[in-house]
Amino acid sequence: SPRHAQKSVKDYIRTIVDFPKEGIIFRDVTTLFQDARGFRMAVDQLLSPYAGEQIDKVVGLEARGFILGGAVAHQLTVGFVPIRKKGKLPGAVLSEAYQLEYGEAVMEIHDDAIKPGERVLIVDDLLATGGTAKAAIKLCERLGAEVIGCAFVIDLPDLGGRKLLEDGGVDVFSLVSYD
Ligand code: AMP
Repeated sequence: SPRHAQKSVKDYIRTIVDFPKEGIIFRDVTTLFQDARGFRMAVDQLLSPYAGEQIDKVVGLEARGFILGGAVAHQLTVGFVPIRKKGKLPGAVLSEAYQLEYGEAVMEIHDDAIKPGERVLIVDDLLATGGTAKAAIKLCERLGAEVIGCAFVIDLPDLGGRKLLEDGGVDVFSLVSYD
């Protein structure tokens, strides 16, 4: 890009190869979050497609989705709801298991976190296979929520997550993608 061009969100994302294990290309958003301009740009851009839409709650996925989702909820002046890995939430929960490459994982939501009919936006840093987001959608829908969309900073379309979610009828929005 030209020498004087403004940095884009992608310019702030750091890539670390072979983390957390060999063969994984890790997209690190801490370098985006630690920059004031980068962080604000990401939060503003995540919100842009939803201008004029009614959103009652923002749902963030552990852990980087808490950072983004908290900022998005604050910007919208709506409540924030965490979806966490099994055993972390103190109150009564709903659980959803989903398949990982090796074994399975369980995500949980407080059973009183969303009221039937509430319109929620799900936020996370990165969409890969879509397993995590799909479990989150199911948890929200089991509470009677209407999931108006899933917003990610990063999409890895080759891993099929966007297709999985869109085939399930959920709107997907992302800021940057990597082949
Ligand atoms: P998935 O359920 O396969 O869509 O994986 C999404 C979750 O795993 C997100 O919460 C991401 O933070 C994390 N994740 C998966 N792949 C990567 C990657 N290449 N770089 C960074 N985070 C990743």
